[in-house]
Amino acid sequence: MTSENQSSVPRRKVSVMIPCYNEHSVLPLLFARMNEFINTMPGYDWEILMVNDGSSDDSMMQIMQMHIRDRRWQYVDLSRNFGKEVAMMAGLDYVTGDCVVIMDADLQDPPELIPEMLRYWQEGYDDVYATRRSRGKESWLRRRLSLSYYSLLQRTTHIPVLQNAGDFRLLDRICIDALRSMREVQRYTKGLFTWIGFRKKEITFDRADRAAGQTHWNFWKLLALAIEGITSYTTIPLRISTVVGFVTSIGAFIATIYFLLKTWLLGDPVQGFPTLVILILFLGGVILLSLGIMGEYIGRIFNETKGRPAYFVQQTSYDSNHRRRRTENENNSQRN
Ligand code: UDP
Ligand code: MG
Repeated sequence: MTSENQSSVPRRKVSVMIPCYNEHSVLPLLFARMNEFINTMPGYDWEILMVNDGSSDDSMMQIMQMHIRDRRWQYVDLSRNFGKEVAMMAGLDYVTGDCVVIMDADLQDPPELIPEMLRYWQEGYDDVYATRRSRGKESWLRRRLSLSYYSLLQRTTHIPVLQNAGDFRLLDRICIDALRSMREVQRYTKGLFTWIGFRKKEITFDRADRAAGQTHWNFWKLLALAIEGITSYTTIPLRISTVVGFVTSIGAFIATIYFLLKTWLLGDPVQGFPTLVILILFLGGVILLSLGIMGEYIGRIFNETKGRPAYFVQQTSYDSNHRRRRTENENNSQRN
């Protein structure tokens, strides 16, 4: 590969990690753009890790061909589609660089921003994240919903929630190792990035439209991610349901006394049917809602306590001992 630098400063290795699910039509563009880009940056060693998240088209074939042509391109092929969050987790387990840039395959995150990220990284920042000034082609409704969601999420927690920040960011090795130590299977990575802390730096960019192909998000997937975000970030909804339950119980108690007294004092010809129906419906609704909220958390507990690995790997361009060796090294260095 590239020759050793003459200077005594060791060359630093930059990994770019790209999760990829059915990106057949955009991959040729991505390869061309990335190759062109890294050729303009000879000061670093590059590794580009494609995490194939169980694509059902010929993405994997294309990635393997790219790997054969240029060994800086590596791949991890997951055994099925696990979703972007877990694909990123797998990527972090494998990257070998001193830092990693996480990027979408569809070129919505322009590689041309990477030099700026690297500059801040060299200055000592550990997490340089790109927030979008504009969000590219998106429906008005999706933008609105997304904005109100973030403000709701922010109100439930004291950990800062980053609006308009995607997963496009540069992470120092220290962040990579922190994230690798968090093995939860149901992940809301955006929350994890802020949770780990470290020195952060924001840069802004205009998000482009998808270069080719279709987005993989639909309403239901986004809703699932949104619920994931709340339930993995905060337990406030549990508290709210407790409070609502408490208040309605008191209300119900007062109503009970009122109706009892009324019946005793005034007698009761069959009246009050509407009151009954309203009470039953209201209480039923509150109970179901609280059960649902608790169910969300119990579901999370259930999924985490199974203790399954988050993903399986079908094949990878790294040799099979790569990850085991790295974990051993880490354990040794922790012991020393
Ligand atoms: N992606 C993935 N697994 C999935 C869905 C998406 O790895 O199950 C990848 C996809 O290939 C892309 C990135 O995640 O690189 C973002 O996906 P997409 O462009 O569909 O999301 P959007 O930009 O619309 O939020
Ligand atoms: Mg996209």
